[in-house]
Amino acid sequence: MLPRSVYRIALLLTWLVPYAGAQQVFVQPVSRDVITERLGLASSRDSERKETLMRLFAEAGCATVLEQPVKGSRLGNVICTLTGKSDATILVGAHFDRVNSLGIVDNWSGASMLPSLYQSLLGRERDFTFVFVGFTDEEVGLRGSEGYVKQLDANQRSSLRAMVNIDCVGMTGTKVWEQRADKRLLNALVQVASSLELPLEGVNVGEIGDTDSISFASRRIPVIDIHSITWQNFERLHEGRDTIDTIQMDDYYGTYKLLSVYLGYLDITLD
Ligand SMILES: [Zn+2]
Repeated sequence: MLPRSVYRIALLLTWLVPYAGAQQVFVQPVSRDVITERLGLASSRDSERKETLMRLFAEAGCATVLEQPVKGSRLGNVICTLTGKSDATILVGAHFDRVNSLGIVDNWSGASMLPSLYQSLLGRERDFTFVFVGFTDEEVGLRGSEGYVKQLDANQRSSLRAMVNIDCVGMTGTKVWEQRADKRLLNALVQVASSLELPLEGVNVGEIGDTDSISFASRRIPVIDIHSITWQNFERLHEGRDTIDTIQMDDYYGTYKLLSVYLGYLDITLD
């Protein structure tokens, strides 16, 4: 659980046109039907998952969807950029590759949410540039995220202010890897969750495994990891039981809602 004290900071945010003190957070919500449909498009082949992700970004309105080659990987990273007023960048990442079965929770739940999060931020110019990345080959050693960080030039690297990693969401209410999270990113998430009255709990998953955020955290880039893993549910992930039945749709849509407002909130509050 997160420290109770941080919950006291109450901001008034609502779903469509939230109001936080003197600041407004605008997000355009994607409907639950669309979120559900995108989640249902998981394939058991990584190449098809990559193609679907590229198509969903295009459908969401992303003009240029790139595939970035990654050394040692057959498939590249899928990248869609929402250019803001400044070069300061918030990266939102989720790996699209799978281990077995359909890999719905791990991690089509995160990857298929990226285009919807992109779509939520349209309709208003943002201060930050948002880069959405579907990482390749996380499950064979974080190759996509490592490859991505290594390809950044010095300017891009210093412009990168935050990395929001989404891996394994939708089994429960939103969880955050509290120990790894940058404190400011964590406080902002707690404030938004509290304002929206959405569940948020700290569950540290360092003993369970690792994820793409380490490629950024190890270079001192602030990260936050969003998941839904508990000590009760993690075993099913890599055991062939990771099907659509593992998803609680209310929780999954709640995580989407929380993250969409969170990104809009970071845009107006992050330095
Ligand atoms: Zn994963």
